[in-house]
Amino acid sequence: IPVERIRNFSIIAHVDHGKSTLADRLLEYTGAIKKGVNQVLDKLQVERERGITVKAQSASLLYKYDGEVFLLNLIDTPGHVDFSNEVSRSLSACQGVILLVDANSGVQAQTVANFYLAFGSDLVIIPVLNKIDLKNADPVRVCNQLRSLFDIEPESVLKVSAKLGTGIKEILQAIITRIPSPQVDRSTAFRALLFDSSYDRYRGVLSLIYVKYGEVCVGDSIKSYHTKNDYEIKTLSVLRPDEVPVNKLVAGQIGLVGCNMRSSKEAYIGDTLHHSNNDALEPLQGFHPARPMVFAGIYPMDQSQHVNLRGAIEKLTLNDSAVTVDIDTSPALGHGWRLGFLGLLHLEVFSQRLQQEYGAEPIITAPSVTYKIKLKPTKQNMKDGTDIVFINNPANFPENHAIEECFEPMVLGTIITPDKYLGPIISLCMERRGVQKNATNIDNDRVMLQYDLPLCEIVVDFHDTLKTISSGYASFDYEDNGYHSSSLVKLAILLNGTLVDELSSIVHVTKSQTIARRTVCKLKDIIPRQMVQIAIQASANGKVLARENIKPYRKDVTAKLYGGDVTRRMKLLAQQAAGKRK
Ligand code: GDP
Ligand code: MG
Repeated sequence: IPVERIRNFSIIAHVDHGKSTLADRLLEYTGAIKKGVNQVLDKLQVERERGITVKAQSASLLYKYDGEVFLLNLIDTPGHVDFSNEVSRSLSACQGVILLVDANSGVQAQTVANFYLAFGSDLVIIPVLNKIDLKNADPVRVCNQLRSLFDIEPESVLKVSAKLGTGIKEILQAIITRIPSPQVDRSTAFRALLFDSSYDRYRGVLSLIYVKYGEVCVGDSIKSYHTKNDYEIKTLSVLRPDEVPVNKLVAGQIGLVGCNMRSSKEAYIGDTLHHSNNDALEPLQGFHPARPMVFAGIYPMDQSQHVNLRGAIEKLTLNDSAVTVDIDTSPALGHGWRLGFLGLLHLEVFSQRLQQEYGAEPIITAPSVTYKIKLKPTKQNMKDGTDIVFINNPANFPENHAIEECFEPMVLGTIITPDKYLGPIISLCMERRGVQKNATNIDNDRVMLQYDLPLCEIVVDFHDTLKTISSGYASFDYEDNGYHSSSLVKLAILLNGTLVDELSSIVHVTKSQTIARRTVCKLKDIIPRQMVQIAIQASANGKVLARENIKPYRKDVTAKLYGGDVTRRMKLLAQQAAGKRK
């Protein structure tokens, strides 16, 4: 198919606005799949269960328009905040997007984030209202929101129902008439953008590539610009949406490449592939590897499961190159790993996949963010430049006297809500140490708020609380906003005077008292009573902020003695004391 008849596009939307359903309808309409098969592109079990899309999946469709066959490459993207790197990565292979908005719930936080991702990449945006079949759909109002937020003209907005399959033809026509064909050249040397990878048990790493220049054939020898490794191409295929093997991919096409890559760490997202004998070529674009934001320790339930868990983590990270893995050991939990994730949902999805796909049931510690600490200058750290340290494990927090200044990661949060929930939402943000940056009305009764928030305040239950206090109507999205200076302390937890680092945390000074109280009360409930008294203490900088005692079971070892024999009584009590010390 000539380049002029190729269109590469993505569907972007807030979660649950109907991307996957629309993708199904497009596949059906173009005959790629049979009618009535739902959510074809959501392949993972966790995606089906949670009804969210985690990994971007692609499909190539053939559609006849005006007597000619067009090749439409659809890239389904995840809409959730944690996975925005998957979205931007998919966009780098597109010339246009369908911006899908639920005609009932209207523009949401993720719609705004996605719009700006597409807008910033100079893509053609086709605005589409979905779910117009719903009784409460209000297309006029949502069109007005699109106009006031993004300057989108109401006439350019399509109205569809992905569920009923109405308006699908109009979308296909808009894709062909509004989105330009890719700027590619088939007559020059081969260069392709690697924008996703997955792991296949039999064929190893499969990379999804967008061929921008030239062509590539099975048997060719190719090279990665980033790693300088050479590979021989074993298989090439296009996704319709099932894999169809081909012998050649040409510029403008999207396809899967199987070469002898061993681990997905070799498949750098954003890398350029070219023929091995063509070293002097420029890369297609620089890449920004996804940066993990949330860290947690993962340990086997007991050490006999260590090898199995390691295998499962290795296989899962092959498929998800955004997860970082470091070895970690803990006196209480043994050998394990410290994993870095893009966000909390990413962590949850990962642990759910560990369970479902590999039957692993690990212990996962409370998530933490990465703090930046400037140490007081010493001869040694000035000499070797180790005066700045990054810490995501409370166990490694430096001693108070060695610290010059602490910094914590911040995000810029966007919240869209009906204005009747404004009061509780503003209180929530203040309680989480947020600073308001902006408040805009997007129509008569809807507001968009922007807050500077510490990342650690939102990773645990911010999103859930926001949903609860707004009866589910407020939506939230965030982007990374660098490090800010902050007063942090390590809240150490001691059991009978012994430090237990697995329970310790890094907290803001203003919150240390509350968190100290909460933690010791919680531990008092959780730790079972023992033969001896247990003192639970939370302390910061050597000062005890909260304390609770768990009373021992009383066992009267002298009960069986009827008076009299003092030496025997003393002996038993001494034995009991020795036991308690132990
Ligand atoms: P995604 O998260 O954007 O991929 O959204 P899904 O495609 O998973 O859809 C979310 C929910 O909306 C599902 O329950 C769909 O059945 C429903 N849905 C999608 N499109 C429509 C539509 O046009 N009308 C109605 N009434 N429901 C829809
Ligand atoms: Mg989906």
